[in-house]
Amino acid sequence: MAVIGIDLGTTNSACGVWKDGQVELIPNRLGDYLTPSVVSLGDKNELIVGKSARERLVKYSARTVAAFKRLMGTNHKARIGKMEFTVAELSALVLKSLKEDAEAHLGEAVTEAVISVPAYFNDNQRHATKLAGELAGLTVNRLINEPTAAAMAYGLQDKSEGTYLILDMGGGTFDVSILEFFDGVMEVHASAGDNFLGGEDFVDAMVDSVLRELELGREQLSPQHLQALTVQMEMLKRHIGSKEEHQLELQIDEKTVSWTANQTWFLKTVSTLLLRSKRPIEQALRDANIPLREIDDVVLVGGSTRLGAFRSMVGKMFGRLPSCHLDPDTVVAMGAAIQAGLIARDEGLEDVVLTDVCPYTLGTGIVNRDAPEKGNYFLPIIERNTVVPTSYVKQVCTSYDDQEELLVQVYQGESRYVEKNILLGDVSARVPKGKEGVEAVDIRYSYDMNGLLEVDLKVVSTGKVYNKVIHNSPGTLSESERKKSKERLAALKYHPRDKEENLAVLARAERIYETSLGERRDFVAGLLAEFERTLEGQNPSEIEKCRAQAIEILENLENEEWH
Ligand code: ADP
Ligand code: MG
Repeated sequence: MAVIGIDLGTTNSACGVWKDGQVELIPNRLGDYLTPSVVSLGDKNELIVGKSARERLVKYSARTVAAFKRLMGTNHKARIGKMEFTVAELSALVLKSLKEDAEAHLGEAVTEAVISVPAYFNDNQRHATKLAGELAGLTVNRLINEPTAAAMAYGLQDKSEGTYLILDMGGGTFDVSILEFFDGVMEVHASAGDNFLGGEDFVDAMVDSVLRELELGREQLSPQHLQALTVQMEMLKRHIGSKEEHQLELQIDEKTVSWTANQTWFLKTVSTLLLRSKRPIEQALRDANIPLREIDDVVLVGGSTRLGAFRSMVGKMFGRLPSCHLDPDTVVAMGAAIQAGLIARDEGLEDVVLTDVCPYTLGTGIVNRDAPEKGNYFLPIIERNTVVPTSYVKQVCTSYDDQEELLVQVYQGESRYVEKNILLGDVSARVPKGKEGVEAVDIRYSYDMNGLLEVDLKVVSTGKVYNKVIHNSPGTLSESERKKSKERLAALKYHPRDKEENLAVLARAERIYETSLGERRDFVAGLLAEFERTLEGQNPSEIEKCRAQAIEILENLENEEWH
């Protein structure tokens, strides 16, 4: 049975499978390899996922959600119409759509998957991702770090040994990893990253800059107009280098404002973000203790690395051009599919071994007697960038007389004070009463290949052991809650597969209509009316013909703005 590899992205998701000795990317119901990670509900609560949902972001902003991966592992609930969804549930809806596409493509049931996550994802976020898979009816055999997946795709594609620096900038996150591929072993030396730095931040900065110049606040725009402005800035970002100056017509509520953008404005607007992206690169190099000159190849992954400004910054840093000969949009899915092939024990792959690292420090709190007002000190147990799987023990003692219980709080982070780190959960042990400092407890942290943490406490004097897998993260569900959530999701029916392409065209035309004016708007209205008429006619071959024409016209309409 096939195990699929999934890149569940903030912006786009993709999946693939290892077949006949190579990666096969799986096209979705529209024939695309990328499925936008966007979920929308139609008027009759029919579920719309992917490109059609993305097109609905402007007009149906209250019924459409995007970029939810950024909130993975939190208690955030998104409201769509009258329904509420957790981030894991929204992710499950995307995964389910990919699963169905894979089943249609492979002609068999798919129940197992490898899902990639940003290396910098913490324990809560990893658990939430696993839960999403489970809610979608997939057993998640392995979570693989996205840069590791990308490096696997590069390493195996080229069969070239060496040390790679992988830079992955997608819609919401930036991940940096240093990996070495040598003698069939893929070893991760270091990972670093920024969970709040991606293509959308560039767009946000552009929107803010425009509004600042027009002396307007975000709150002064209606959600629709704000969304439309965001879409315009997204397009501008992608085309900024293509010509000297770009003339835009902005719809600012009831007014239309002419506005000119050039490369200088763009660079000024995003310079802080570009600077911020240097930090994780430097940290990864420091942690791996590898000098720049020993990096054999810099590999670009993720849609935002198409940005000319980013490429030239990297080029300057390394004094050479980075590699990007695999499609940056699908390379992570390819790597996840390779890992899936390894798990399915496909023959061509049996000689690859993967070692990964824990990307952040895990520890616990200890009493701070120097300056109690600053809160407890952080005692690191597993240092960041330790190779996983790994297991470390540190001993702590009771901190006051007649203490009966020793509570171990589990923290993740790099700060000296626990308060500034992330609390992942706690475990407690009962200890015999006695003088302060007499009773000791061994704290063992074990970190597995999926990046999940287990904590054991052993009371030295009694030998009693307390054990816990840390997953009291926000959003964790009990068995019955899981069942309920699954049922709720199953009750939502996907928009019929065969009508999906028509829906995508309608939604796209509606979006272009909304963001156009005058003649262009009338033209799109005519196009929409004709397509709707054809759809009512219910003649499949005519629908197909009309759809193909409409796609071509819409394509030209959107392109002409930029050339
Ligand atoms: P994720 O891994 O977060 O799902 P992707 O790797 O699919 O993200 O990248 C999505 C991001 O890439 C978006 O923010 C998008 O704006 C950006 N992007 C895509 N194409 C381009 C381009 N040609 N120029 C600049 N940014 C781009
Ligand atoms: Mg990605």
